[in-house]
Amino acid sequence: MLLTTIAGSLPKPAWLATPEMLWAPWLLPADRLAEGQRDAVLIALKDQEAAGIDVVTDGEQSRQHFVHGFLRHVEGIDFDKRVTIGIRADRYKAEVPTVTGPIRRRGPVHSNDVRWARAHTTKRLKFTLPGPMTIVDTIADEHYRDRRALALAFAKVLNEEARELEALGLDVVQLDEPAFNVYLDDVEAWGIDALHAAIDGLRCTTAVHICYGYGIKANIDWKQTLGGEWRQYERTFPLLAKSRIGQVSLECANSRVPLELLKLLDDKDVLAGAVDVATRTIETPEEVAANIRAVMKHVPPERLFPCTNCGMVVLPREVARGKLRALAAGADLVRATLRG
Ligand code: ZN
Repeated sequence: MLLTTIAGSLPKPAWLATPEMLWAPWLLPADRLAEGQRDAVLIALKDQEAAGIDVVTDGEQSRQHFVHGFLRHVEGIDFDKRVTIGIRADRYKAEVPTVTGPIRRRGPVHSNDVRWARAHTTKRLKFTLPGPMTIVDTIADEHYRDRRALALAFAKVLNEEARELEALGLDVVQLDEPAFNVYLDDVEAWGIDALHAAIDGLRCTTAVHICYGYGIKANIDWKQTLGGEWRQYERTFPLLAKSRIGQVSLECANSRVPLELLKLLDDKDVLAGAVDVATRTIETPEEVAANIRAVMKHVPPERLFPCTNCGMVVLPREVARGKLRALAAGADLVRATLRG
């Protein structure tokens, strides 16, 4: 019980991509990039194993961004037609590619990444994919002109991809849906349907990650506007409780999410953020343990997976390593008292 995991991303080595930056450019020439990414995955796996993380990821070392890394391999998207749009309800600007035709997968996107990671760890392996709603919110569209239809088109290619990745030995497929905390009406209208289409037929564990974003200034400023209690999950958790998704990853540490909302998830596994990614201060194991115990008032330890609030891609590597160690050590502290 209390198996630890991370939301997904880890910082990249400074020789691979510009550190501490979202959408960081690659620093290796094209002919050496794939090899460098594979080396970085080995480090990411080793860092998690050394820290004592139970369910590991590839640290998302092979993608520049959690959404566009996948889209690069999808037909119907013009990466030369880039426009700057406001994303997450105009919280911040991003330069995004444009959908110009029917969405189709050109072929496997992350198969080599999963094959490589699977071959180099015996731990349970999770792989993250962008969720359909979050993709739709991170792209311009000149073809479908309907967010639901576009989301379902992406869900179809995500499902093709997820089935292949599962067959390569994944334990968990996670869809990242930070947009679920922004477009609450859309979650109900079509967001859950799109998630279901994306996980259709999967037999491995499925998860959805819904957060308040990376620790970048635009997100920190946004959180200041959300008031004393963040109740976005109150709308989405009852819908997720009825869904076929197995696990829900959410933000708890240092957040204003009222933890009693966790009860709304019924019997789902809860990947609770016990480590904050918006600060460079490394939590002590005791602080992590306190976060876990606070969640345990609402979620039994068998269904609780201590996790990071969100990805750690923009943090310095030593900070991320410290947070991994604190996460595992904090979970150990709680386990020891439960066995007591
Ligand atoms: Zn996140």
